[in-house]
Amino acid sequence: MSRKGSLRVRFAPSPTGHLHVGGARTALFNFLLARHGGGVFVLRIEDTDRARSSAAMTRSILESMAWLGLEFDEGPHHQADGLERHRRDAGRLLEQGRAYRCFCAPPGSTRSPREGEGERCGCDGIPAGAAEARAASGEPHALRFRVPEGETSWDDAVHGRRAVANDHIEDFVLLRSDGSPVYNLAVVSDDVAMGITFVLRGDDHLSNTPKQILLYRALGARLPTFAHVPMILGPDGKRLSKRHGAASVEAYRELGILPEALFNFLALLGWSPGGDREVMDPADLIEAFSVERILKKSAVFDSEKLMWLNRRHIERLSLERLTELARGPLEEAGVAKAVLDGQPERLRQVLGLVRERGNTIEAIALQAAPFLLDSIEYDPEAVARFWKSPAEAARLLRAVRDLLAGAASFEPAALEADMRQLAEAHEVGAGKIIHPLRVAVMGTGVSPGIFGVLSLMGRERTLDRIEQALGYLDAAATAAN
Ligand code: GLU
Repeated sequence: MSRKGSLRVRFAPSPTGHLHVGGARTALFNFLLARHGGGVFVLRIEDTDRARSSAAMTRSILESMAWLGLEFDEGPHHQADGLERHRRDAGRLLEQGRAYRCFCAPPGSTRSPREGEGERCGCDGIPAGAAEARAASGEPHALRFRVPEGETSWDDAVHGRRAVANDHIEDFVLLRSDGSPVYNLAVVSDDVAMGITFVLRGDDHLSNTPKQILLYRALGARLPTFAHVPMILGPDGKRLSKRHGAASVEAYRELGILPEALFNFLALLGWSPGGDREVMDPADLIEAFSVERILKKSAVFDSEKLMWLNRRHIERLSLERLTELARGPLEEAGVAKAVLDGQPERLRQVLGLVRERGNTIEAIALQAAPFLLDSIEYDPEAVARFWKSPAEAARLLRAVRDLLAGAASFEPAALEADMRQLAEAHEVGAGKIIHPLRVAVMGTGVSPGIFGVLSLMGRERTLDRIEQALGYLDAAATAAN
């Protein structure tokens, strides 16, 4: 199956929308299959449906694949470029008596006559000479495949043995009366021409497979291995769609998901490496991947798990890459370019302190911003909770200010010892000082350990923030009286 050099797989998206999670997972499995087996990964854009396909969507799919790191080795081929071959293949089947002309279509109609009705067509009985004469006179007609007697079966690499009695398969259309090929013909013609040896796709194509196998046989081509991967369900058990929130790769990118996290997450949707391994990078996944471990039952999309994986992958980033990724979100949070460019060391220190405190780069940037902004805003919830009594908060903050102004060292351990002493002297728990202080310097009710925060903030900026907070608190205390 995966003899080196012989494995050829393809991803064949229709460019009628952005790359969604299901398509991305199919692309990813094909990528892993090819890379694991030393095979070739082909990209084919299935753009025969002119009305619904667009160049913009093709670009978007290519961008999403590139962002995810799904590099293909060949392509993109465009299915529409194969039109002449599709017609030739249908013509060959007609010549060999494996297809026949069907005149049932209303003249000018592009619709497949009686497609999917599960019947034989009366046109099968038209004597060959008469059918040729009608065609030669320009009578519009489609080409139908003549389904042979018997049974069509295959060993699906995921679903096992599948078999369908041929009398359940209608004489399906190959070419419509306007000369356009139907999907099943185009796909088989392309897969044969491109030497595809392994077809891995969504199991919404299971029902097409018998027809496609009949076409392979009729065209005298070797069957590829088929693997149909179960679909992805939303948490409500229904097929995953936009209703469940973000569904496209692009949307997750905008949400601040790392490509390696989405890569990891998609790989675990319907596949498992065995054991309890979960956090894996692309190289681990390539090594571990095998079709045998694709699960038969549908996978459920769990956004919390995606967030969890994102966090794990953020933790694994080098500080350099994290810094690079955080620039955009930091700018959006109001941090000046001059600070981002001018204080690289400080930027790295700040990110190093807060990096474990968010599921996305955006969340981490928000935690980093107070260190880098000239002035901060106070989170109303934190104010309500920790500055409930402004006069009391101001009294303690003045004591802290005096302490920090004279502190011999701004190292976290020294600051902690000083602060505990101060709390004792004022006969309050340390929390009574730390929480109001955190709101004063960070504007928030949560942050990394306060002593690390103060140390990184530095004496000058800390004192400055405390002064600002005192201004706020004094005004609030006056207003309350
Ligand atoms: N273009 C088809 C789709 O997007 C895939 C065809 C195939 O994989 O055989 O569903």
